[in-house]
Amino acid sequence: MMIIMKTEASEVEVAGAITMVEEHGLRAHIVHGAERNVIGVVGDIRRIDREVVALLPGVDHVMSISRPYKLASREFQKENTVFNINGVKVGSDEILIIAGPCSVESRTQMLEIAQAVREAGAHALRGGAFKPRSSPYAFQGMGEAGLELLAEARELTGMPIVTEVMAPDQVDLVAKFADVLQIGARNMQNFNLLHAVGKTERAVLLKRGMAATVEDLLMAAEYVISNGNRRIMLCERGIRTFETSTRNTTDINAVPVLKAQTHLPVFLDPSHSTGKTEYVTAIARAAIAAGADGLIVEVHPHPEQAVSDGAQSYKPEQFADMVKQVRAIAEVMGRKVPQHEVTL
Ligand code: PEP
Ligand code: MN
Repeated sequence: MMIIMKTEASEVEVAGAITMVEEHGLRAHIVHGAERNVIGVVGDIRRIDREVVALLPGVDHVMSISRPYKLASREFQKENTVFNINGVKVGSDEILIIAGPCSVESRTQMLEIAQAVREAGAHALRGGAFKPRSSPYAFQGMGEAGLELLAEARELTGMPIVTEVMAPDQVDLVAKFADVLQIGARNMQNFNLLHAVGKTERAVLLKRGMAATVEDLLMAAEYVISNGNRRIMLCERGIRTFETSTRNTTDINAVPVLKAQTHLPVFLDPSHSTGKTEYVTAIARAAIAAGADGLIVEVHPHPEQAVSDGAQSYKPEQFADMVKQVRAIAEVMGRKVPQHEVTL
């Protein structure tokens, strides 16, 4: 349910409506719109008499949110969610490019790739320290030592870092180092994990499960947002289909569908969605043309030596060329890929 306040409603009246909601054991989430404040009410809304709410001072009217995801819906918030990650803007007319290796492997690798992707135009650095591998015998990631290397790379380049958290009991540790907590495709419906990241102050990159619908993804986002964390980026990373010529099938439709259904920024991962470097740039261009707000791309100094996902990882120079092409598409779309002012 949404409580739409009158344009002239005072702060005291807004606070009064929120108190009334909370006294009924429900949660209130306020959105300060351009014209008026809207309070989203979530929980078991049968507990509250909406006729009574409609009569509260400062309340204009009360409306239902028809979608099953409430706070994540465009129905609830018309304006795009825009936020900052260490000075880097997300969700505006600026396209955010996150790049780096699949896994953090060593200090040399991380420091080298961090500088290379920054020089090629990336705005944030990725790298997995906790890796969700299909095989228990495959490299599982460097863990805390990997997080320390990411932090060192951030010091060196000034780029915020994006890294995966796989379990609720890792959240405090990963949040101590990371600027963005990545929830991997395999964990998209790990509800305890969604709950835990929803309680942190860190931005969240929520990847779509490989067999999840767009609605499933939005319901997962609702878990995070309803726990108080609104800084969420959604990420299409390819889904499983009968097609075998690529690792996954990029659901490019998901980009405009998500942009219509939610106010949250939408990203696309052309590396995992294709699994092959030869298709990455085409799909990166398509993502921006379809309206995506950003990309997350795997780049490795020596892809042939990568411990994970080498076949889909770009060399820095291939990534630099992709950024150029994406910049041209962004311009056609009336958007821009910001360029660094200072070279390292
Ligand atoms: C990754 O980003 O390295 C990763 C494991 O992605 P996904 O969860 O989309 O498979
Ligand atoms: Mn990977």
